[in-house]
Amino acid sequence: MSRPIIAQINSTALETNLNIIRQHAPKTRIWSVVKANGYGHSLAAVLQGLRKTDGFALLDLNDAVMLRENGWNGPILLLEGFFNQTDLMVIDHYRLTTVIHSVWQIKALSHITPKLPLYIYLKLNSGMNRLGFDTISFFDAWHTIKQLKQVKHITLMTHFADSNKLENIERQMKVVSHVNKKLRGTYCLANSAAILWHSQTHAQWIRPGIILYGASPSGKWKDIEIYKLQVAMTLQSKIIAIQKLPIGEGYIGYGSKLYLSHKTQYIGIVACGYADGYPRHAPAGTPILVDGTYTKTIGTVSMDTLMVDLDPCPQATIGSLVELWGKHIKIDDVASAAGTLSYELMSKVMPRVKMLIT
Ligand SMILES: *Cc1c(COP(=O)(O)O)cnc(C)c1O
Repeated sequence: MSRPIIAQINSTALETNLNIIRQHAPKTRIWSVVKANGYGHSLAAVLQGLRKTDGFALLDLNDAVMLRENGWNGPILLLEGFFNQTDLMVIDHYRLTTVIHSVWQIKALSHITPKLPLYIYLKLNSGMNRLGFDTISFFDAWHTIKQLKQVKHITLMTHFADSNKLENIERQMKVVSHVNKKLRGTYCLANSAAILWHSQTHAQWIRPGIILYGASPSGKWKDIEIYKLQVAMTLQSKIIAIQKLPIGEGYIGYGSKLYLSHKTQYIGIVACGYADGYPRHAPAGTPILVDGTYTKTIGTVSMDTLMVDLDPCPQATIGSLVELWGKHIKIDDVASAAGTLSYELMSKVMPRVKMLIT
């Protein structure tokens, strides 16, 4: 039998979440953000679950081609644009929409002869200071591109650095409004947090990522509970051994963590470690579900195993099912225990974990 760790991907949950987002932002079109292999859920799963999206947004040209070749005929947006001139041949051939964030990309565009003029997204740096043109160079870029016969349509795009705080959204929206006064057109601004909590950012297109997969953009599950988003990924495994520690002192796992117990302590060994994508920094006490019962991890996460306290579930045996994250154990809670975000955990599930798409 193969190692029991499995990532179950529920494509119906993706579909449900897309519908919830549509109801929440009914007047705007949706780019489903599927970068990083669909936040670790696989492109096969997003193709299946998100068929009703208006477009897919991602980074990798090969992934874009893969979506096309698997039958997706709608819009595809390259969020970081292209990385060299030759990419533009592929963009033209597969009818992809590309972000333009740098002057060299405008030059590259002006040197090609596409079969049909391209749709582009011009990226405004409204205060995140990552990619894009500042306001002054944005107007220049816009006017230069307007003259190009290679371009059919320009959409203005920007990205929020901190959509959890209103004042930070407002600071960036001021820059957007300034541009909007002079350039009325199509706008695409909002990521998940802005979609849920700042409807003034919705514009003509939105770009949800994390909420499609059923996790919280704030890192706190409680913040999204009312929206009834469904968890799309369940990481599960099994107990493969049980250790019995005597009363008193014991040492467990790497680093020989001292363990004190006033009664005999049973420990379940789970076939899941950091080489599967479970965070090594998840401390003892991180929530986990064993045989349907909530318990916690103990000791240090190792490469291929982790340990759980079997106190709350004395019935557990070798072969008992363990949920690392999913419907019951919120990935946001595991991430926050490990000092990170669900985004990182989802996108780092390793290829050695079998994936089951339902
Ligand atoms: C990743 C990404 C998104 C989606 O962000 P979420 O917080 O997952 O909704 C949107 N826009 C851009 C440019 C991105 O890189």
